[in-house]
Amino acid sequence: MKNFRKELWFHAKSRRSLINITPQVTEALRESGIKEGILLCNAMHITASVFINDDESGLHHDFEVWLEGLAPEKPYSRYRHNGYEDNADAHLKRSIMGREVVVAVTEGKLDFGPWERIFYGEFDGKRRKRVLVKIIGE
Ligand code: ZN
Repeated sequence: MKNFRKELWFHAKSRRSLINITPQVTEALRESGIKEGILLCNAMHITASVFINDDESGLHHDFEVWLEGLAPEKPYSRYRHNGYEDNADAHLKRSIMGREVVVAVTEGKLDFGPWERIFYGEFDGKRRKRVLVKIIGE
């Protein structure tokens, strides 16, 4: 059995953004040479998510509105976590959007449903942050 590990770096220019990272994950799978197995992709930060959904701008707007309704960024004073930090909302958003995805690898490809794409969800951006890709198989 082979194993492969790669870190992907992202730098969102705004506090929140959703980035389709499917091309970078697909490239990591190609580099691994693994044809059959399992791919794990996770955010390495507790204020960012990796999740699978549709690459459709209306839906991305809906996610923003929904998450702001659940855990509004402001006022910062509404959260006990905010003292030296102002990112309590980002921790909460990350929790509901999830830490990682697992995708089957079949015949050297990500074995997706028709509209599935992998996203990096940034909730406390304006700095470089990492995503881990780990692939095992043969
Ligand atoms: Zn924090």
